[in-house]
Amino acid sequence: MKSSIFREYDIRGIIGKELDINETYDLAKAIVTYYKRQKPELKDITIARDGRPHSEPIRDNIVKAITDLGINVTDIGICPTPVLYFSLFNTDITTGFIITASHNPKEYNGIKICLDKKSVWGKQIQEIRRIYEEKDFYKNSSEKKGQVVSHNIIPEYIEYLANHFEHLKNLDIPTVIDCGNGAGGTVIPDLIKKMNWKNIKLLFEEVDGNFPNHEADPTTYKNMQDVTDTLKSDKNLQLGIGLDGDCDRMSPMTKSGYLVPGDQLLALYAQKVLKDFPDAAIVFDIKASSSLIELLKKWGAKDCICPSGHSLVKEAMLQNNAKLAGELSCHFFFNDRYFGYDDGIYAILRLFEILKETGKDLDELVKVFPYKYRSPEIRIECEESDKIKIVDHVKSVFATKDDSDLITIDGIRAQMKYGWGLVRASNTQAVICFRFESDTADGLQHIKNDFISALKPFFNKKTLDKQFVI
Ligand SMILES: [Zn+2]
Repeated sequence: MKSSIFREYDIRGIIGKELDINETYDLAKAIVTYYKRQKPELKDITIARDGRPHSEPIRDNIVKAITDLGINVTDIGICPTPVLYFSLFNTDITTGFIITASHNPKEYNGIKICLDKKSVWGKQIQEIRRIYEEKDFYKNSSEKKGQVVSHNIIPEYIEYLANHFEHLKNLDIPTVIDCGNGAGGTVIPDLIKKMNWKNIKLLFEEVDGNFPNHEADPTTYKNMQDVTDTLKSDKNLQLGIGLDGDCDRMSPMTKSGYLVPGDQLLALYAQKVLKDFPDAAIVFDIKASSSLIELLKKWGAKDCICPSGHSLVKEAMLQNNAKLAGELSCHFFFNDRYFGYDDGIYAILRLFEILKETGKDLDELVKVFPYKYRSPEIRIECEESDKIKIVDHVKSVFATKDDSDLITIDGIRAQMKYGWGLVRASNTQAVICFRFESDTADGLQHIKNDFISALKPFFNKKTLDKQFVI
């Protein structure tokens, strides 16, 4: 097992190369040991898995490890990650994990871990790594094995959603929803039936962990091509939706084919939440457009910027007692009428609610977001070991500029008079991420040029000129 699988927010790697299925028995022992040291009274763990072919043998190893340690397992089967979260908030068992590699290609798998309804991340994952590598496992002194029960909680989850969105029953907003062969297929078709929604076209709802149609990351036009084509060919459709592989993210496409970024959709959610909670704190990640900040200020919200990453956003939500949070990558966390975790399926219902209440389509609604010249998130591959060096160097360059205002909670976001730029190290890949924004086209070029010159020791100008074109 490669130690690189122990990442910032979860455990993830390529099966056979980085993550060895046979060793997931010990890996589960390490997770349980971590749990037991935090919570000695722990007796039950809920586990879930996505639809990847290797999720099942991993599940078998994990169940054996947990029960060998004398802990009971409730197996909720193949389901979306938010359904695992739902079980932690709605059953007596508040600790558990899911075998999933989210939207990653079929070669990958991994584990997202929760303890007492909270995500386990950062140093906690490194502690699990230490336990795993040193085989410093908890020992079952009684030698009594744990029991295994199966519990299909999906009907309860659907029931919960149906009860909370009575007003959306019989809705007729013609929509194409692409499940991307991910875990969404275990919920979406039954939810549509239960809600009696009319004119919903489903794509790739069969759960297939080989992802034969496209990668299950709906935030790129490439993966949303089928949705784009369906919207073009069926003029009756008003909206497109893509879900990621484990459904903690959802990404909408307007009727005209515009893929709405997470910060723009967050603005729409915020507008609605602020009607009920006028000065609520709203959390967004470091990549968000300054248009979102302007809107939140105008609407009277307490705007809270935080580092990127779903675990860090949840942490910031708790600290600020926020009612809502979201990321550019389309994780949305509702804490006004829901449990505060990221749930792409729940986010669909909240979007339908806005569309129904306003009677407007999404093309029209996103116009509230002030226009600026902006880049999408730009991702450039680099050596893992160079990531921090690059960010630190750019930081030092901008620190010497008198006219810059720097936010350094996650990489560096440099606000200049003519715009802002961001550089940060990805926590999930050997990649360095950028984003730029300005009120004018000239300003956008100016801020890009600032970054290109700051990056001189690491990248040649030609490469960056090409990558930074939008
Ligand atoms: Zn995901």
